[in-house]
Amino acid sequence: MQAIRFIFQLFFIELILYHAVLFSLGESYKNCESYCPFGAVETFALFAQSGKFPCAVNELNYSIFAGVLLLTVFFKRAFCSWICPLGAVNELITRVRSYFIKYKPLAENIMKTLYSVKYILLAVILIATYRNYDLVFRPYCPYFTAFGLHGHTTVVLSYFILANALLATLFIKMGFCRTLCPFGAFLNVFNMKTVFKIYRDEGACVKCKLCDGACLAEIKVSESAKIENAGCTMCLSCVSACARNGALKVGL
Ligand code: SF4
Ligand code: SF4
Ligand code: SF4
Repeated sequence: MQAIRFIFQLFFIELILYHAVLFSLGESYKNCESYCPFGAVETFALFAQSGKFPCAVNELNYSIFAGVLLLTVFFKRAFCSWICPLGAVNELITRVRSYFIKYKPLAENIMKTLYSVKYILLAVILIATYRNYDLVFRPYCPYFTAFGLHGHTTVVLSYFILANALLATLFIKMGFCRTLCPFGAFLNVFNMKTVFKIYRDEGACVKCKLCDGACLAEIKVSESAKIENAGCTMCLSCVSACARNGALKVGL
C-alpha cells in the first residue's frame, strides 16, 4: 500500500513540475498556482462578493478545491498524504531524518501551541487577501516557491521562508504540515467526522505499538478504537505497520 501511495506522490510531483516547465517555456498559461486548491480558499470571500475570479485564480482552482473537499469528507486528509507535492517533500524529510535519528515527541502543551500557529496564519491570510484584493501570501508561499520554477513573485526571501518552513520538519515529524500549513488547517475543519476512518479491533490488537511509531502525525493509534483525529491524513502507514496482526482496517 505504501508503494502505491509513493507512486501517487511521485506522479503528482511530476505533473506539477511538467506544467511548471511548460509555463516557464511559454507553452501554457497555467503554472503550479493554477492547480492549487488553497487559491480558492484564499479568494472565496471575494468570489462570493463579486461573482468573479479574483487575482490569478480560475475555474481550475475552484474545481480542484471542490474535489479535495469531497475527498476529505470521505477519506479524511488523503489529499495531504497521496497528492500534495509539498506534503511529499515533508514526508521525505521526515523519513530521512527518522532513518538517521528517531524523533522525540515534544511535550503535549508545546505541540498544542505549535498546532495553533497554522490557524493564526490561515486567519491572517484570509483577512489580508480580502482587504487587499490580491493573493498577498503568494510571495511567501513555500509551494509556489518550491514548484513555481522561480515564478514572477519569487524573490530571495521566498527561498529563505521555504528553507525555514522545511526546517521545522527536521525537528518535528511532518513539522511544516502539522504546525504551519494554512491549507492543512482549513482541511482539519472537515477532517473530524469523515465517512471512512481507521478502526482498531481490540480483540486482534497485541499492543505492539508499531502503529504509533509509524504514524506520521504522531497519533496514538494503539489507544483509540477509531481514528477521528483531525491530524490523520489516511496515509495508511499504521495499517501497513500492523499488517501481520490485522487489527487496523479502514471502514465506515
Ligand atoms: S498540510 Fe499542507 S503542505 Fe502538508 S500535505 Fe497538507 S496541504 Fe500539503
Ligand atoms: S500495530 Fe496493530 S497490533 Fe500493534 S498496537 Fe497497533 S493496532 Fe495493535
Ligand atoms: S493514524 Fe494512520 S492513517 Fe492516520 S496519519 Fe497516522 S499512520 Fe496515517
